[in-house]
Amino acid sequence: MERRFEQGHGVRSRSLASFLVSPRERHPIFVSVCAILLLGVALAEFAAQDSGPFGWDRALTDLGLVDVQTICPDIQVDLKYATEGNFLRKNVYGDLRKCYLVKEAASNLAAAQKNLASLKPGWRLKVFDGARPRRIQAIMWGLVKGTRQQHFVANPSSGSNHNYGAAVDLTIVDEKGRELDMGTPFDFFGELAEPRLEDAFLKKGMLTANQVQNRLLLRRVMIEAGFLSISSEWWHFDAFPTDVIRKRFRVIE
Ligand SMILES: [Zn+2]
Repeated sequence: MERRFEQGHGVRSRSLASFLVSPRERHPIFVSVCAILLLGVALAEFAAQDSGPFGWDRALTDLGLVDVQTICPDIQVDLKYATEGNFLRKNVYGDLRKCYLVKEAASNLAAAQKNLASLKPGWRLKVFDGARPRRIQAIMWGLVKGTRQQHFVANPSSGSNHNYGAAVDLTIVDEKGRELDMGTPFDFFGELAEPRLEDAFLKKGMLTANQVQNRLLLRRVMIEAGFLSISSEWWHFDAFPTDVIRKRFRVIE
């Protein structure tokens, strides 16, 4: 990003500043204000290039990824990282609003929605996250690095299965669109979110039978459609084992 700025917008910034004021009139504060404004313009241009209908959507489609709602409109999508309603309290997804997955994962998610509807008519899957380009992973990593949240965000150098479009975070909503009670919210950073400890928390009364049943329903419909659950987050499912994902699919930069 820094190199990009030096090569492209930096040249334009310097020549514009020179044009606006003669060297005799330049004041350090004036020059600083100009620099900040020009940096803002440069960042806005950068964001515009990499988001929106001709940015993310086209780039992800060109890579062969599939917008899950094009094959299953019943699936709801609410990308939490495209809002400020996430643990980062920032929209780090720009204009990306759709859930993209590799083709097989998208088809399997449609099958999971079908499984759910056959058990609970009117109920729908609600997706919080799908494909996450690695540059966004790097932004997230930069925001949490050195904080206690660092443990919960994958380092972009090793990456997440989301960076391959082969993982999905989701919950279930009932026929009235109400999210089922899963015992914790999405992205709850604590043991209460961990499926491996559900029995223990149930015995201690820290999770109710209904909350555990809701998680089991989500796991049932997803696993029957071919997804794999993980032991640490009730909302996360991988389309394939991690080693298979890394061999078969390209990381989304
Ligand atoms: Zn996830």
